[in-house]
Amino acid sequence: MTENKKELISIIIPCYNEEDGLDNFFIELQKATEQIANTEKEFWFIDDGSIDKTLQIIKEFVEKDKRVRYISFSRNFGKEAAIQAGMEHAKGNYVVIIDADLQDPPELLPDMYREVKENGYDSAAARRVNRKGEPRIRSFFSCLFYKIMRKMTGVEIADGARDYRLMNRKFTDAVLRLSEYNRFSKGLFAWVGFRTKWVEYENVTRAAGESKWTFFALLKYAISGIVTFTTVPLVISSFMGIIFCAVAFLAVVFIIVRKCLFGDPVAGWASLACIMTFLSGIQFLVMGIFGQYLAKMYLEIKARPLYLVREMSADSKLCE
Ligand code: UDP
Ligand code: MG
Repeated sequence: MTENKKELISIIIPCYNEEDGLDNFFIELQKATEQIANTEKEFWFIDDGSIDKTLQIIKEFVEKDKRVRYISFSRNFGKEAAIQAGMEHAKGNYVVIIDADLQDPPELLPDMYREVKENGYDSAAARRVNRKGEPRIRSFFSCLFYKIMRKMTGVEIADGARDYRLMNRKFTDAVLRLSEYNRFSKGLFAWVGFRTKWVEYENVTRAAGESKWTFFALLKYAISGIVTFTTVPLVISSFMGIIFCAVAFLAVVFIIVRKCLFGDPVAGWASLACIMTFLSGIQFLVMGIFGQYLAKMYLEIKARPLYLVREMSADSKLCE
């Protein structure tokens, strides 16, 4: 074959209010990608409804570098939607997802590329080996979440895994085939299988700006991740029902026996009140769990688009 065409690497960068560090990030990213010889690159900046100057800065990039493309959402749809939009539009033989805040070190890219190109992996993903600089409480709950997730789903999501990843076309297309509305990328990447090389690195704190995650946003993300990925909580709910029925039955037997043997002094109303409150608490919990699944199904059935584009770069052709 006389194919001289260089392979294309598409780099997807979800951006939400990243005006402070975006310039610097792009310089670092360009530096790192230059290390990957014999390939073309395209940069897909996905502006996730930023309300600062992010879009303006991206447009300046477009002026200066003809490999830059962008999509700007009509509002903030979340990072998962931004990743999806990027993956749908990226045409590369290899696709990279990287955060805009330099927490995903661009200098890992040449290594990641090598693992996929030469060592037979389908994707190379970055994993933090520590969480230096992160609030303790956040680290604790994150670790707990991944533990629960691994136990419940059986899908291997590495602790400290990030969305930072380089994938080949096969892997990218596999992820794109999962058309669900409730997307939990880390889970989807693990679910599709294939061979992933974990590239480890020390945690880096944000270069500029602030994380968009509050504690409650993370909690919601965690619950949503579990609900979209496994139905184990429903099974646990059913078991809870069975266990409480069994306990109640034993209690009835105990009361009847006691009545027969010792008569029935009126006592125990306090413990009764406690038990009733406890049980109704459990009932609400179980109903809540059902509700979570119902809500997810509701959103899934509505099948709304994951994102709406307000504007995008005119030229989305391959660059030379
Ligand atoms: N991001 C996004 N949409 C959002 C929130 C975040 O596109 O609604 C982008 C953000 O600009 C950054 C990446 O996702 O490039 C990671 O965000 P962040 O740093 O806030 O998350 P963390 O690193 O704390 O997990
Ligand atoms: Mg970050």
